[in-house]
Amino acid sequence: MNAGTVTGAAEFHALPVAAAAERLGVDPARGLNSEEAEARLGRYGDNVVRVPAGPGPIRRFLAQFHNPLIYVLLLAGVVTWVFGGHVDAGVIAGVVLLNAVVGFVQESRAQRALEALSKMVPVETTVVRDGVPQRVPAARLVPGDVVELAAGDRVPADVRLAEVHLAEVDESALTGESVPVVKATEPVSPSAPVADRAGCAYSGTLVTRGQARGLVTATGGETQLGGIQHLVATAEVVPTPLTRKLARFSRQLSVVIVVVAAAAFVLGVLRGSPAPEMFTAVVALAVGAIPEGLPAAVAIVLAIGVVRMSRRGAIVRHLPAVETLGGTTVICTDKTGTLTRNRMTVTTLAAAGSPVPVAEAGETLRECLVAGVLCNDAELEEGDPTESALLGSAIAAGLDPAAIRAAAPRTDTVPFESETRTMTTFHGEVAYLKGAVEEVAARCEAELVPGGEVRPIDRDALDRVHGSLTARGLRVLAFARVTPGAAPVLLGLQAMHDPPRPEAVTAVAACRSAGIDVKMITGDHAGTARAIAGEVGLASGRVLTGADLASLPDEQFDDAVAATQVFARVSPGQKLQLVQALQRRGHVVAMTGDGVNDAPALRRADIGVAMGAGGTDAARQAADMVLTDDDFASIEAAVRVGRGVFDNLRKFIAWTLPANIGEGMVVLVAILLGATLPIVPVQILWINMTTAVFLGLTLAFEPTERGIMGRPPRPPDRPLFTGSLLRRVVLVSLLLVVAAFGAFRLQLGLGASLAEARTTAINVFVGVQAAYLLGCRSLDRPVVCAWPGHSRMFLLGIGLTAGLQLLLTYVPVMNSWFHTAPIGLVSWLWVLGAAVVAFAVVEADKLLWSRLSTGPAAARRRNR
Ligand code: ATP
Repeated sequence: MNAGTVTGAAEFHALPVAAAAERLGVDPARGLNSEEAEARLGRYGDNVVRVPAGPGPIRRFLAQFHNPLIYVLLLAGVVTWVFGGHVDAGVIAGVVLLNAVVGFVQESRAQRALEALSKMVPVETTVVRDGVPQRVPAARLVPGDVVELAAGDRVPADVRLAEVHLAEVDESALTGESVPVVKATEPVSPSAPVADRAGCAYSGTLVTRGQARGLVTATGGETQLGGIQHLVATAEVVPTPLTRKLARFSRQLSVVIVVVAAAAFVLGVLRGSPAPEMFTAVVALAVGAIPEGLPAAVAIVLAIGVVRMSRRGAIVRHLPAVETLGGTTVICTDKTGTLTRNRMTVTTLAAAGSPVPVAEAGETLRECLVAGVLCNDAELEEGDPTESALLGSAIAAGLDPAAIRAAAPRTDTVPFESETRTMTTFHGEVAYLKGAVEEVAARCEAELVPGGEVRPIDRDALDRVHGSLTARGLRVLAFARVTPGAAPVLLGLQAMHDPPRPEAVTAVAACRSAGIDVKMITGDHAGTARAIAGEVGLASGRVLTGADLASLPDEQFDDAVAATQVFARVSPGQKLQLVQALQRRGHVVAMTGDGVNDAPALRRADIGVAMGAGGTDAARQAADMVLTDDDFASIEAAVRVGRGVFDNLRKFIAWTLPANIGEGMVVLVAILLGATLPIVPVQILWINMTTAVFLGLTLAFEPTERGIMGRPPRPPDRPLFTGSLLRRVVLVSLLLVVAAFGAFRLQLGLGASLAEARTTAINVFVGVQAAYLLGCRSLDRPVVCAWPGHSRMFLLGIGLTAGLQLLLTYVPVMNSWFHTAPIGLVSWLWVLGAAVVAFAVVEADKLLWSRLSTGPAAARRRNR
């Protein structure tokens, strides 16, 4: 047991707060002191739930043999052994072993990449220690700690609530009840079930509303959720639509191949070939032809994509996201923090229709600044940047926030909610309200004129000054004073500047050239939204507000949403409607969000994107991807990587299928013609193993092609096997068979021995595969025009393959195991010639089709 509880923790819900605090040995106002916290950490251990480890390496290794194909291969080995082919049987065993080792290594790599991801989003929590609130990793919490919780936070441990402000908690993870539970501080009956313990909040549940302060009663494995592994933030490994499709394809192909092989076997035996020899031949046919490495290769390509994305600031939580990202057609993004820096500075104040510079506001608009300090949860360097900016303006105007706060202690709070767009704090008799200008002004009758006079609001003047501030891209907040018995008084406006991120400007431009529609969806004012949209290069055109959306007739909704790029004053619920409208139009939608209310939209979007730095745990949990830097440019980078991943998958498929089909066909054609096999079974196994690993897998590491963001997005319904891919596969398969057979026959005709002729055929086969690998570095453009950089893996693969072929050809032991023989220079010229011809044919095919596909007929074909 590595984490702790305090005796009788189960009954904390039945104790009054004071008694609970006493039992936990903590002062709820000051928290533990650091030494005590350290000591308890030693005693109770980290606040983490240890997940049971997966199967160990030995079991994972053995699992590699659990494959029908391997069974057949082993059976073939046994048959071969029984009939005296001891060396061949040994080779088959070696191949099986090698296959298992390669599979094991690949699987472990992919697994490690994914495991690393789950650790990259640190979970932090606010804890009061030595009387000071501070952020600490949730893992360092100990029983007795005092934690502060706010809407959007995941409860980091089991706590007894000591203070609550309108707090509601979604306990569905624990109780299955999806309606949030209202929390209180009163004790309940000792026998109350977990769902009824209003005075407690449990680890892993989500605060959906309000704020609370609680005393940690249990951590780690001792929490209610301690045993439930799935709540730990591990990246999920689920099959993606693509991997599922490919797995099905491989299975279907396998069945076809096995049937063909069985037919070939019967035919061969009827023709008089010895059954054991035939058996090994058709097993080789099957093993060569079945693309058994395909699913593994796909998993690796995706895993590499995950790692590449994480280097660009995007952490993928669900593997399918890697694949979906590449097909994204619309990105809906927040404004604040994603397109802008979220570093706010108040540049101007305004009251009674006129702007007032910050420096002068200390005298004329003192109470507006005071309201900004009091109705505020931030510190200058910490907390919500909007609120920090309000402290900054007070200081710039010569006020002392600490003194102001000390003079008017807060007695109650109604926290900010993005639905109401306001926040209120109470300070004895006075309350201060701050928020969106429309919301605050609507509640006021009177306004303060700089200098002290109170008069009825001049709404036209207010609208004018508000309009001129938002048109400059400023975020404007209004402030009001509420006193009992009097109408609320508008104290003034504070307008803050939040500069756009320069990288976002470039990224927006890149998305637009990539045919991806970028839409800004913000809670801010339409004027501000339009101005910022202009600055980052979004076509601003018409701005739709939340109110506009609500009044649109259903039949116009989808069209209006599709045609608009800027949405302002949008509520989180409307974000969900926007996603749905775009999806009805066939779009693949990426949507960002940071608040707890954004979770449904994030879940519904094809790619939900949450903020790693600024967002809530609730949003992160609902998202497919988390941005470590909250930057829009990271989304664009992830889309770029996603497109590259999809490209590499197509490249791998385009390369591997002809290799498999070619290998199978060489055997099949020989059997059908009753001819001598140009390549014998153990040799096929050799080719299959070495090329799949050293040539094919290099495609997984291919860099993203240049100009990948210059193409339109892949249509969502486009199949993986497009016509051009199939054509290429057939073409290259035929090339391989003709080259191998041709080389073999010609060598025999020139008087070479059978072993020499076969060795030449093998080398021709591998040479053509290597040349084709080169061609696969770009599927549609001649590689000479589109030479990608970063060729290290590619060159390494070619080099290793060449080395292995030399070993196979010249080392005596290899000669006897694989029935090969050293060959002369002329044979190598054949190999080279075949490779060059194959390369030229593939390149010519690309040129021809790119010609054909740029004409008007092609445009029609594409649209079909
Ligand atoms: P985005 O969705 O692009 O991040 P946003 O951050 O501007 O947009 P919200 O944070 O929901 O959206 O803010 C919406 C409006 O609520 C703001 O324009 C402002 O008027 C008001 N507002 C924001 N923060 C506060 C706050 N801490 N207290 C009071 N009102 C606020």
